[in-house]
Amino acid sequence: MPHELPELPYPGDALEPYLGEQTLRIHHDRHHQGYVDALNEAEAAIERAREANDLSRARSICDALAFNYSGHLFHSIYWQCMSPDGGGDPTGPLAQQINRDFGSVAGFRAHFVAAANAVQASGWAVLAWQPLGQRLVVLQAEKHQDLAEWGVTPLLVLDVWEHAYYLDYQNERPRFTEGFFEVINWDYAGRRFERA
Ligand code: MN
Repeated sequence: MPHELPELPYPGDALEPYLGEQTLRIHHDRHHQGYVDALNEAEAAIERAREANDLSRARSICDALAFNYSGHLFHSIYWQCMSPDGGGDPTGPLAQQINRDFGSVAGFRAHFVAAANAVQASGWAVLAWQPLGQRLVVLQAEKHQDLAEWGVTPLLVLDVWEHAYYLDYQNERPRFTEGFFEVINWDYAGRRFERA
């Protein structure tokens, strides 16, 4: 089954003024679609290569699989991490775990924003559940997949590629990363945490 682009969970203008409709539409309809299409192409390419018994392009196809799969996954989570009804503070088990692992919600927020602001070039800030240590971690991902920790479950992701904010914020990434907390969907992150 080919991968498919998920619908946005809200209208294109629902996150204004934090994110303009043009930013959101181009990001979802073109960029995310691009990862879906390239992932499907790469999966077909590795299957054809296996069947033809010619794996001479395995390195570049594996690279495309990791890049585009991770891009598709993170964008699919990212749209859900924002809501026109978002903002405020986390509740329930996720709030307790954040307090345990980061001291406070404010401590988590400062850590997450600093990680997002400091991603070199293109990438993501990620709040993830790490089963090995039974704790929450903040990660940076360069591109979509570099510097990942194996086995963690992403709970909350913030795209800091320039296409995510440049029309609205130009080079002022910190205004974009701080504003994320005005639309953050803690209920969605909490449900992911409880499943993890
Ligand atoms: Mn993106």
